[in-house]
Amino acid sequence: MTVTTFQTLASINPATGETVGEVPVTPAEDIPKIVAKAKAAQKEWARLSFDERIAMMAVGGKVLVDKAEELGRLLTAEMGKPLAEGTGEVKGCGMSVEPDAREVAEALAPEKREDKYTKTTQYFDPFGVCAAITPWNFPIAMPHSLVIPALTAGNAVILKPSEETPLIAQAFVDALNEGLPEGVLQIVHGADEQGKALVNSDVDLIAFTGSRETGKKILSAASDGLKRVVLELGGKDPMIVLDDADMEKAARFAAMNSFRNAGQVCVSTERIYVDQSVAEKFQNAMIEVAKTLKVGNGADEGVRVGPMISRRQKDHVLRQVDAARKAGAQVVYGENPDGEGNFVQPTILSGVNHDMEIMREETFGPVACIQTFSSDDEAVELANDTPFGLGAAVFGGDEERASQVARRLEAGMIGVNKGCGGASGSPWVGAKQSGYGYHSSTEGHRQFAQVRVVSLPKPRD
Ligand code: ADP
Repeated sequence: MTVTTFQTLASINPATGETVGEVPVTPAEDIPKIVAKAKAAQKEWARLSFDERIAMMAVGGKVLVDKAEELGRLLTAEMGKPLAEGTGEVKGCGMSVEPDAREVAEALAPEKREDKYTKTTQYFDPFGVCAAITPWNFPIAMPHSLVIPALTAGNAVILKPSEETPLIAQAFVDALNEGLPEGVLQIVHGADEQGKALVNSDVDLIAFTGSRETGKKILSAASDGLKRVVLELGGKDPMIVLDDADMEKAARFAAMNSFRNAGQVCVSTERIYVDQSVAEKFQNAMIEVAKTLKVGNGADEGVRVGPMISRRQKDHVLRQVDAARKAGAQVVYGENPDGEGNFVQPTILSGVNHDMEIMREETFGPVACIQTFSSDDEAVELANDTPFGLGAAVFGGDEERASQVARRLEAGMIGVNKGCGGASGSPWVGAKQSGYGYHSSTEGHRQFAQVRVVSLPKPRD
């Protein structure tokens, strides 16, 4: 969409088509002034201790927890996910502001080292102003995952949330601003024009979560001033089901991880490779789980799968399904007759192959595609046949064998008999074209800081 000066951005409920609210679009020509304000505020912010900064951020965390019910309803109205998940997202972020910030502070504590001649202290200083550009699928959790480390490190932050979810992002910023000094955290509303203007402005670091295509554009635009860039991009996550896997468990995981948040998750399972000897059993078990998932307005009782964020997203998903069907794939579960609304039923395809777009490009919808294999080597080859490399999963009864298969996958995060997320303190990392830099973990937190070393000579004896 094109946005011009003085326009407002209307936020539309994807389940009902009703307007949830509006925000004023930030005129692109105002962005340099916003950056200047951030730069001025950052100096004082950086002078505070970690404890002082964390105490100020914690105020906002408490506001989010206190308002979790109200903001959960807003999140669901604006983005569509089931209410329990919307409320859980707000509450989870609120509760983790302080512990997350403490973890970042620990990662950024100065380190000392010395050799025979030199004593060195390594500091992790703020860059200055961080632009955080985020998508709509986890409209509080995504801003949270970039804003909290950037602020803790002593940067000022300008958040440009997705134009699909401006209201909940505004609520997140308002909550944090109850405790923060003026100018340390600001928000810019709008679409691509505002994103581009922010990337091209005098910011020092760009932290982006979104599509691979936009990530490439940002990296290229940032090269001009050699701005620091951290990109968390999309995926086409594979799941491998070995012949000795617990079929019920594997099918349950496959269904939940393909259909959760209506498949609008960067680590959704999008490609399933099943040993041919167990394919039928697995497919039937997966269909049974899919049947239990009620589709509808996320605000309604019992709904597990909400709408697609927009008609455009629904059309993209159904076009991929249709093209695969025309190329010979079978739709073994899921009816999607043409209709109003943004809903897509959980859909399972079999008989797919890598010539089909649905096995190569991100779908971002509640669609699971099943392809069979006849050896572990073939499964690994198929799973790695993609430029993406975010998450992956391997299910197998023999953990040793499944772990060996997992080690051969070219993804950043691989789960064996579970999803891809690591133990707390692990990085959130994409391999290949799913990421550029990464966040979370000691090393991830350090990407929000400039490393500097100060060294002194040691007295010679
Ligand atoms: P998604 O469609 O999953 O939201 P996008 O990559 O299209 O992913 O968008 C993610 C974020 O990037 C949004 O906030 C969007 O407005 C912003 N954006 C889109 N194009 C650009 C660009 N060229 N430069 C900077 N930000 C952009």
